[in-house]
Amino acid sequence: MENLMSKQILILAGDGIGPEIVKAAEQVLTRVNEKFNLGLTWEQGLLGGAAIDAHGSPYPEVTSEQAKKADAILLGAVGGPQWDNIERSIRPERGLLKLRSELNLFANLRPAILYPQLADASSLKPEIVAGLDILIVRELTGGIYFGQPRGIRELENGEKQGYNTDVYSESEIKRIAKVAFEMASLRGGKVCSVDKANVLEVTELWKQTVTALKEEHYPNINLSHMYVDNAAMQLVRAPKQFDVIVTGNLFGDILSDEAAMLTGSIGMLPSASLDENGKGMYEPCHGSAPDIAGQNIANPLATILSVAMMLRYTFRAEEAAKAIEDAVGNVLDQGLRTTDIMSEGMQKVGTVEMGQAVVAALN
Ligand code: NAD
Repeated sequence: MENLMSKQILILAGDGIGPEIVKAAEQVLTRVNEKFNLGLTWEQGLLGGAAIDAHGSPYPEVTSEQAKKADAILLGAVGGPQWDNIERSIRPERGLLKLRSELNLFANLRPAILYPQLADASSLKPEIVAGLDILIVRELTGGIYFGQPRGIRELENGEKQGYNTDVYSESEIKRIAKVAFEMASLRGGKVCSVDKANVLEVTELWKQTVTALKEEHYPNINLSHMYVDNAAMQLVRAPKQFDVIVTGNLFGDILSDEAAMLTGSIGMLPSASLDENGKGMYEPCHGSAPDIAGQNIANPLATILSVAMMLRYTFRAEEAAKAIEDAVGNVLDQGLRTTDIMSEGMQKVGTVEMGQAVVAALN
């Protein structure tokens, strides 16, 4: 078994349900670390609202230093109503965007997998979603979320006008398309590139660049293109037609949440954000869910499955990653459910109990 001596993780619990779900995931991490002799160590840090309260900034210098030296980061979620009215540039979510861009975490991998045990939790008919396994590869550090100029200005007639800029360079498109092609070659070999090339020049270049890269380096990948409005529709009509979807920051944000809901609960879905060398930040797809924070009802499985992704993609510890995924399958087989995935005849458990059950299944 590999020993990854001196590999360091930074844990950022964040806000809302963040501390609860991260605590459950940390217990799972502790158990696999022992069981597979991984030699991982970790420390805690502050991000988002918690960091604003302690340091006046959502991504303070001390967190930035910790993040740069870590090999991987595990994040809960950030944000909450208590920080909604502070100045936009220091809101909790800005800290997260800054961290992603400072570490160049440009590739966001968001699997949407429907565990067969949860086929009933989806709002779609079981035959449409059963066995769903798609991977959305979203560009995370470019596009309209970062493009300049941006702002709200006053026009000559006194009316206010908001504006943002959607911008992608060839190199940014190539590196995210490369990730999608590499991932597809380990899966079903199919990539669907999503754009709005009929209207937006920036995505016309996207489409051309993705096509050229495939022709030059990935002749065996089956590449298709789809407009984003059609992709949104196809995801609910026939989601199993997709294998890997690659798209920009804005479209990826929306489509990945839509894909998440196909699986029944956003509380089940992990994500990874990687740089060019495989360093990554791992977090659940959902937010800080302030509406249920502190009540021991949040589903910790997305965060626990994020630990599995971390072991697979950054630490290359496939056996340990698989063990976590199998343990999650095992607790679902036992009929344990948090409120968000509860169905008739199952046993309702809290955040803490769900985490403990996964640890027990690992034993
Ligand atoms: P959300 O994902 O936090 O919640 C949406 C709904 O899903 C809520 O009803 C919530 O209770 C439920 N939910 C989410 N996670 C759950 C879980 N693990 N178990 C059970 N139910 C769960 O999205 P939102 O309400 O739009 O945003 C809340 C806050 O989170 C905002 O401040 C937002 O900015 C922030 N946010 C942060 C991130 C992040 O940290 N990556 C992502 C999205 C939103």
